[in-house]
Amino acid sequence: MQIPFSPPDIDEQDIQSVVEALRSGWITTGPKTKELERQLAAYCQADRAACLNSATAALELALRVLGIGPGDEVITSAYTYTASASVICHVGATPVLVDTEPGSFHLSPEKMRAAITSRTKAVIPVDIGGVPCDYRAIFKALEREQDRFVPQTPLQAAIGRIAVVADAAHAIGATYGGQMVGSVADFTCFSFHAVKNLTTAEGGCAAWRRFEGVDSDEIYRQFMLLSLHGQTKDALSKTRAGSWEYDIVSPAYKCNMTDIMAALGLSQLARYPALLARRRQLIEQYDRAFAGQLESLRHYGDDYTSSGHLYLARVPGAGRIQRDALIERIGQQGVATNVHYKPLPLLTAYKDMGYSIADYPCALAQFENEITLPVYTTMTDAQQQYVIEVVKNCLEDLRP
Ligand SMILES: *Cc1c(COP(=O)(O)O)cnc(C)c1O
Repeated sequence: MQIPFSPPDIDEQDIQSVVEALRSGWITTGPKTKELERQLAAYCQADRAACLNSATAALELALRVLGIGPGDEVITSAYTYTASASVICHVGATPVLVDTEPGSFHLSPEKMRAAITSRTKAVIPVDIGGVPCDYRAIFKALEREQDRFVPQTPLQAAIGRIAVVADAAHAIGATYGGQMVGSVADFTCFSFHAVKNLTTAEGGCAAWRRFEGVDSDEIYRQFMLLSLHGQTKDALSKTRAGSWEYDIVSPAYKCNMTDIMAALGLSQLARYPALLARRRQLIEQYDRAFAGQLESLRHYGDDYTSSGHLYLARVPGAGRIQRDALIERIGQQGVATNVHYKPLPLLTAYKDMGYSIADYPCALAQFENEITLPVYTTMTDAQQQYVIEVVKNCLEDLRP
């Protein structure tokens, strides 16, 4: 049996929705993108949402809307994908990487607090695997360092503390303290990349909460300008007869979503509750099968529910060599697994910036025996049973 890692779940309804967009005569940013923005904001209980071509663009533009740039510092986790940190470099600010809590895949709120300076303008927590961070602890730590916060833009001042820009690339549909992820942080960025829970092939969105005294329409307008050349009129408004005039207010970027992508997103969102439910089943079945054998990320707690994006697990007693051997043996039997993540200080780009893995012992420990098992919504129970057997057998072989 061949088990891929995370193929997209594309059904007939998704295909019809894309075909309809293709036939509609409007294929780039237009009515379907605007509809997806409305539905996403409603779904994740955000005030507004702006759809873009990726979560990376969403994170970068959120930093730009906040007015973060050279001279500023932004804190993120050492245990994440490069996008959480590279966007900080893109805006010219300095990334400050923070270690995880021992035994956790999330950034440590206490270590985050210790990394705060008067230059810190935002923190990018990562809801890894779809499990929300401990936002209460994060907000509390930020409040305790309130004296150090020096706002430099009206939006920063309106937020009144270091901004929380969540990398929720994995976490659409997750909940925290009874709220949807999307309404917890100041800005929340989701990914609709092909491997993610809800896909538009490539794509993402930034959602934000209501800020006291700030016009959300104005924030939305900023996202639109930044994502479309700083042009005052989008393609759809320019097509209206007799309406050609436009201005360019800044030499901005090009990272808008197209209506073809949005058509897929609308169709996926309509059936997303069923996709989330299937992910939960699969994860609970893995949890039961591997209880006592693997230390798996806890996806469902008293106070939160995950989107069930990735099944992160640690092999007790294994080191990097045994973990890699395990992945190879499992692969030989047709099952694709992965590692999430190689901590950023192990990567050339971040080493070149001066980060050393010696300063991130907890992230390193999490990584060395981590293996991510396949979870995808078209996986059948029989396929999952096969994965469980293969992994159990390979774990047996690992024993001395
Ligand atoms: C996938 C991913 C991103 C980037 O998403 P894109 O839509 O591909 O830009 C960012 N952060 C994390 C943790 C991711 O897994």
